[in-house]
Amino acid sequence: MKILIVDDDPVLRQILHTYLARAGYEVALAEDGRAAWELWQQEHTKLIVTDWMMPVMDGPELIRRIRAASFPGYTYIIMLTAKEGKSDVIFGLEAGADDYLTKPFNAGELRARISIGERILNLEASLSQALSRMEELATHDPVTGLLNRRALYSHAEAELNRSQRYGKPLSFVMLDIDHFKAVNDQYGHLVGDQALRVVADTLAHNKRPYDWAGRWGGEEFLLVLPSTDLEEAEVVSERLRVSLTEADVPLPAGGALHLKASLGVASSSLDPTAAHTLDSLVHQADEALFRAKREGRNRVCLSLGESPAPAET
Ligand code: GH3
Ligand code: MG
Ligand code: MG
Repeated sequence: MKILIVDDDPVLRQILHTYLARAGYEVALAEDGRAAWELWQQEHTKLIVTDWMMPVMDGPELIRRIRAASFPGYTYIIMLTAKEGKSDVIFGLEAGADDYLTKPFNAGELRARISIGERILNLEASLSQALSRMEELATHDPVTGLLNRRALYSHAEAELNRSQRYGKPLSFVMLDIDHFKAVNDQYGHLVGDQALRVVADTLAHNKRPYDWAGRWGGEEFLLVLPSTDLEEAEVVSERLRVSLTEADVPLPAGGALHLKASLGVASSSLDPTAAHTLDSLVHQADEALFRAKREGRNRVCLSLGESPAPAET
C-alpha cells in the first residue's frame, strides 16, 4: 500500500517517511496541498496523511478537491494537525477527512489509524468488485458474454436518438442460426452453447468498436450499426454470414461443426424522412430475416421498409 504524506515541515516529512517505510509502506511525499493535488491526479494514491496548515494550498482545500474529483475508487484521508479545538476537528471532518490525529502524534496511534484506513479501503475494493460483477450479470448474457437484450435495447435507443439528432443513418442486422435445433438434437446442449459462443466471437470480430452486438433471444443476435446505411449494412452482413460458415465449432469427439445463419437488415436510410422508432426498425429487420429463412436460409435479405398499414374498409 502506498501512502502520500503531505506536510510543509521537512523534518516531520522525513520522520513520517522513515517510520512508514520501516513499517512496510511505500511512501510518496509532497510539501504542500498543491504538490499533493498534482501528484494525486497522476497517481491516485488511496491513502493520504495530510497536514492542515500549509502554504499555497492547505489540507482542507486539498481534501475538498479530492472529494469533488470523479476518480473511481475511494481515497482515505487522515488529517494530521496542530489544531485540536473541537470546532477545528469538525471543520476538518466536514471538509471530507476520514480521521484526524493531533500533533505531536503518537507513532503507534498513527499506525493503528492507518490500519483502519486500509481496512476501509479493502472493504471498498471488494464492494466495488461485487458491484461491477452484478452490473456485468445484469447487462450481459452468461452464455456468450455479449450484451443481453435489455442492455442492447438501451444502447440501441441511445444510438437512434443520436442518429436522429445528427441526421445520420442507423442500421440493424438480425441474425438467426439456421436449423439450430438440429445442432442441439444431434450434438447436445453443450455443443449448442459452444456454437452460440462461436457466433458471438464472429460478431465481435466483424463489428467496428462503436457498433453494438448482443444476444436478442435464444439463437438470435442483433447488431446495431451507427452511421451506417442499408448498403453498408448489407456488406457487413454478408461478410458476417461468410465468416460464420468458415468458423469451426469444435466437437467433443473431434472434428468441427460449421454453422449457417440467415440475416435480415433494416436501416433508417431506407426512408430518411420517416420518424423511425426502435421497435419499427427491429421489426423491419425481423421481417427481412423471415424472408431470408423463407427464401432458403444462409443468406442476407434487406428490408423493404415499413410494411404499409392495412387499408381501412
Ligand atoms: P430456423 O432455421 O428456422 O431458425 O430453425 P432453428 O432450428 O434454428 O429454429 P427453432 O426456433 O426451431 O429452434 C431454436 C433452437 O434454439 C431451439 C432451442 O433449443 C435452441 N436454443 C435457444 N437458446 C439456447 C441456448 O441458450 N443454448 C442452446 N444450446 N440452445 C438454445
Ligand atoms: Mg434458428
Ligand atoms: Mg429463432
